[in-house]
Amino acid sequence: MRKLLKDILDKGQVGEEYVAKGWVRSRRDSKGLSFLVLGDGSSMQTLQVVLGAEVPGYDALLPDLGTGASVAVTGELVESPGKGQRVELKAHAIELLGKADPETYPLQKKGHSHEFLRTIAHLRPRTNLFGAVFRIRDTLAQATHRFFSDNGFRYVHTPIITASDCEGAGEMFEVRATSKDDFFGRPAMLTVSGQLNGEAMAYGLGQIYTFGPTFRAENSNTSRHLSEFWMIEPEAAFYDIVDDQDLAEAYLKALIESVFRENPDDLEFLGKFVDKTLIGNLEMTRDNRFERVSYTEAVEILQKSGKKWEFPVSWGTDLQSEHERFLTEEHFKKPVMLTAYPKEIKAFYMFQNDDGKTVGAMDVLVPGIGEIIGGSQREHRLDRLEARLVADGMHLEDYAWYLDLNRYGAVPHAGFGLGFERAVMFCTGMSNIRDVIPFPRSPGQAHF
Ligand code: ATP
Ligand code: MN
Repeated sequence: MRKLLKDILDKGQVGEEYVAKGWVRSRRDSKGLSFLVLGDGSSMQTLQVVLGAEVPGYDALLPDLGTGASVAVTGELVESPGKGQRVELKAHAIELLGKADPETYPLQKKGHSHEFLRTIAHLRPRTNLFGAVFRIRDTLAQATHRFFSDNGFRYVHTPIITASDCEGAGEMFEVRATSKDDFFGRPAMLTVSGQLNGEAMAYGLGQIYTFGPTFRAENSNTSRHLSEFWMIEPEAAFYDIVDDQDLAEAYLKALIESVFRENPDDLEFLGKFVDKTLIGNLEMTRDNRFERVSYTEAVEILQKSGKKWEFPVSWGTDLQSEHERFLTEEHFKKPVMLTAYPKEIKAFYMFQNDDGKTVGAMDVLVPGIGEIIGGSQREHRLDRLEARLVADGMHLEDYAWYLDLNRYGAVPHAGFGLGFERAVMFCTGMSNIRDVIPFPRSPGQAHF
């Protein structure tokens, strides 16, 4: 296998010959000598190549060795006299693999706005910024599988095409065949959540998680909503709401630890150029016990805050982003887990508390984002579940298979959904969700 630049930089032996392949980030010429800075996306680090005029083809190639050009350089690894790098490559041979015409290549200069880069989503992975973001996204995905696997959760796949609207979680996208009407014999949609299928799997395997794409046609053009996003949904049999909170807290902390361990350079870059509070926020989240309060307590805090809210708060209203962010950023100054929400504003499947008014919901709020996780203990008592569905005006026949789960061998169980892009935002400091997924889909936007 080809050696990555990061391996040459970290482990390469001085005096040995290496072939370095990558893209020219920048070039500096001095007399009879050029310095190429090469990157290949394997890390934030770059390899400096010293290209002497004696290298075959030097004069002919030089005009094309500009920013963005791709090259393969063979040379000897030598100690670098320069600061901030252990080694550099003294070239013996260079091959130009692909030119990048400076007249048209948009990534010549540094310092493009995030908005501009969004219009060239096919090229932005080549920037330092998006390299850092997408390397961290990968770390978080790998850490997710590791965390759940290490804790006895099985990775399961739930359908993407579904005929059940799990929780009425907003508008859905319809799926139709181009060739045939009524392909599935009933209206079919893209999934808004794998939860109900996840519960079925948890009743077999005990503890499961899904990690899949999720689609919501909500027309909310905010910086925290996408039409297509990825969600991680663990579901555990024999869990109550406190177990669910413990799991969510341990998972978020494991995610943060993974980024500190695997992406120190990327974090440093993002902390410097994107969000000065990033590293502090992550350390604070990793090192503190999350605040656990009830919805009712949160409403009291919000009412006593003396703040002017765009959306007034009273018991029974859903919390808005401004409220969530006040609680986590200003009041508690750390992540907050809210529980016991009014049943009217939460989905039918949530565990009905004894007070008759609240359900065992659990939302996790973090600074800079607001809601990152939404979860609950599920109602496993069949009579209560049916009564809630009926009260909500639903038809029990439509939920027949879901009700079967708790008709046979019901046990307390709980789970949650983490919006993966919100986690990537939190761990990169990026403020727009369109900038943490490679090719974002949102209302009016499905280019690339
Ligand atoms: P919000 O109130 O922020 O719209 P929600 O309550 O509708 O979220 P849930 O149904 O609880 O969201 O989904 C679980 C998680 O999925 C949320 O906590 C959030 O992290 C994420 N999420 C929900 N909707 C979106 C979306 N449109 N784009 C990206 N992530 C989302
Ligand atoms: Mn929610």
